[in-house]
Amino acid sequence: MIDIAQLRLEPGEERSVEVPVVLPHLAIGGVEYAGPAAPVVARVDLTRLNSGLLLRLRLATTIDGPCHRCLEEARIPVSIDAREYQADAPEAGAESEEVCDYLQGDELDVATWAADAVVLAMPHKILCREDCKGLCPSCGADLNAGPCDCPPPAGDDRWGPLRELLGDDPA
Ligand SMILES: [Zn+2]
Ligand SMILES: [Zn+2]
Repeated sequence: MIDIAQLRLEPGEERSVEVPVVLPHLAIGGVEYAGPAAPVVARVDLTRLNSGLLLRLRLATTIDGPCHRCLEEARIPVSIDAREYQADAPEAGAESEEVCDYLQGDELDVATWAADAVVLAMPHKILCREDCKGLCPSCGADLNAGPCDCPPPAGDDRWGPLRELLGDDPA
């Protein structure tokens, strides 16, 4: 939390504040992802304008979760650069761009903002590594550990429909 009032920003003034945040466990599509156990330092830049307050949040962290292909634990870097604006007098029925949802009175909820921004910044698919070979669609063996005893699926069209049935996504 940052108490905006305490900063006493004059119009045109800018201030940077560093806030340690502990990222919550994130459930995305029924899969759980977690940030580091230790707090991550978030940097918030606040700029007082004549008509409102400009907010920028930056942080870099790692996220742990199962690899999309092989289900082994993977760790990926995620960096955030997010902006919000809070108008002093948002118009009635104002667009959401004029209201910062993370500001309650003078208190800026950095932790919630950071958690939401991490979810938005996460890649569509988390991979343990770019060329992860995934699991064998027939026997379930981790192909990163070496080939299994199944017939090679590549170039064998009889395996195509089966792979589709199993929902295997080669991309
Ligand atoms: Zn993997
Ligand atoms: Zn196999």
